[in-house]
Amino acid sequence: MVSANGTSNGGRLNWMIAVAALALWGAGCAHVEKADVRKGEACLADGGRSDYRIVISAKAPPSTHHAAQELQTYLKRITGARLPIVTDTEPERAREILVGRSSRFDSLGVAMDWFALGKEGYVLRTVGERLVIAGGEPRGTLYGVYDLLEDKFGCRWFTPEIERVPQVSQLPLPRLDERKVPVFEYRETYTWESFDGNWMARNRLNGAGGRGRLLEKQNIRPPMPELDARHGGSVRFGFGFFVHTFDKIVSSNQYFAVHPEYFALRSGKRKPTQLCCTNKDVIRLCAKAIRAGMKAQPEATVFSLSQSDNKEPCECDQCAALAKAEESGMGPLLHLVNRVAEGVEKEFPDKIVETLAYQWSRQPPKTMRPRPNVVIRLADIECCFAHPLASGCQEANKKFVADLQAWAKVCNRLWIWDYTTDYAHYLLPLPNKRLIDDNIRLFAANHVAGVFEQGTYDTFDSEMVALKAYLIAKFLWNPNYEEALATREFLDAYYGAAAPVIQRYLDLIHDYAEKQPVHVGIYAKPTSAHLTPELLTQASTLWDQAEATARKDAVALDRVRRSRMSVDYVIAEQARTAMKTTDSKRNAQQRELIALARKRFATFMQTFERSKLTRIREWKDVDKADYRKTLAADLGI
Ligand SMILES: [Zn+2]
Ligand SMILES: [Zn+2]
Repeated sequence: MVSANGTSNGGRLNWMIAVAALALWGAGCAHVEKADVRKGEACLADGGRSDYRIVISAKAPPSTHHAAQELQTYLKRITGARLPIVTDTEPERAREILVGRSSRFDSLGVAMDWFALGKEGYVLRTVGERLVIAGGEPRGTLYGVYDLLEDKFGCRWFTPEIERVPQVSQLPLPRLDERKVPVFEYRETYTWESFDGNWMARNRLNGAGGRGRLLEKQNIRPPMPELDARHGGSVRFGFGFFVHTFDKIVSSNQYFAVHPEYFALRSGKRKPTQLCCTNKDVIRLCAKAIRAGMKAQPEATVFSLSQSDNKEPCECDQCAALAKAEESGMGPLLHLVNRVAEGVEKEFPDKIVETLAYQWSRQPPKTMRPRPNVVIRLADIECCFAHPLASGCQEANKKFVADLQAWAKVCNRLWIWDYTTDYAHYLLPLPNKRLIDDNIRLFAANHVAGVFEQGTYDTFDSEMVALKAYLIAKFLWNPNYEEALATREFLDAYYGAAAPVIQRYLDLIHDYAEKQPVHVGIYAKPTSAHLTPELLTQASTLWDQAEATARKDAVALDRVRRSRMSVDYVIAEQARTAMKTTDSKRNAQQRELIALARKRFATFMQTFERSKLTRIREWKDVDKADYRKTLAADLGI
């Protein structure tokens, strides 16, 4: 929930507020008589012409200018009519689309609660022959335009390259009266394919945090447009303050030799695994670094003060006592984070100090509470992602949901770090496409205010990545968006004639995983029980059919082939494992799989080599020539 002053959501129900939506899309203006027009059944455009113009304030910010331009561009593509953009200094006319707050509201007789709209909420309203699209700054008005284009006029932005823009000769003025405020204040789908400011804004995503870190790490500038002033900016993490920041803030290289007491006491010895959270000098150094970061990066809003990525927290007397009293490793950590947050809250009231509730710090403390400018980012890394978190399919999922519910009671700024890919095998088919919405609805129901969905962020062409990014985008904006509709529309746009076959493939892997008590984590192996040789053989046959269906469409065929790498990879890797047993000990299924892997080898390798996939696991570039050589040797080719 976004609130205008950027503070907590106050525990109010996090839910999309939509009032009296009355969209008369498709009613048609065919053969509109002049008499009908006088009755108010106006057309925004008819036969490539329009009486309407787009009005913005003469003092409009960049995001409102961009909103007007986007509306102009897409209305032209939908109807053929180009509506002029004018400022509110021009005399009023009856037929206007008012984009953003302007002096027109003085005479309109429409009361707008700008404060309640926050930074991203908006109103769509038809007033006589005028259409009002106006929201809170900086992103509300722009999002209102995208709501109109997407939800009312049928545009879709599936990927940065693939969009759907319907074309009509008559576009009736929709009769609208609705107000929307997003469920989540922070929405990020963290995949390489979605690192595009225009695509993110059009899908009403506002997170660019992880990307900044990634680019910083790789020392590269954005390859694609970022979320910038046109898009109303973003919820941005400070560079160097994204996640696991302990060692960046108090560097063990710099301090461990001279101040071992700054670091974790483990079995009686100081080790640079984590910081000692109760050490006064550590608190002072962290406060200094966070404050300096906030000062140096005015555009960034979130600064992470979070544990290193290991399970070895400090066990000194003070840390251990706090952890014991609070019945959680979060005790000493929150002690540190709260003090640092308190030190910056007056000087930087709009900025947030974030920390991870992750592994040893996942459970909420018994009595301590995060300060209002602290975000707790709760991570579900231990869970099964073949079944919804709320299914309670295994103990890890039950425990996570218990922690989520407990945090929901004590934290007004609860964000989630969720996982959507297999980090040991980026190509591994993960039966998680049907549960993304279930999990996001679970978060919403537990007052979660922000969601970071970690996907494949360091290479193109991982498993079904573009579909996943689109689904996540839809559900993060509206947790009740219809999954079947989103999937069907995406598959149609992405795979063309092959879409129904790809849907059958998705059904195959999901149906199997749903029916089996097979749990799949984020480091599953190619031999995981959710991918049996029989299922892979069936999947391979479906991909044959998909290729055959798409053969006349070179673009769709290329996408089918690149997506198929996922199944080819697992077939190859399972066959590679089977080859390690002696021939006489292999069963019929293993023999069949080895034969299939050998048959697919040349085609798989051809696609693999020309694809934009650069990694098959997190953190490590793949040497494609070497992969081919060793796979050929292992398969006896
Ligand atoms: Zn300690
Ligand atoms: Zn499970």
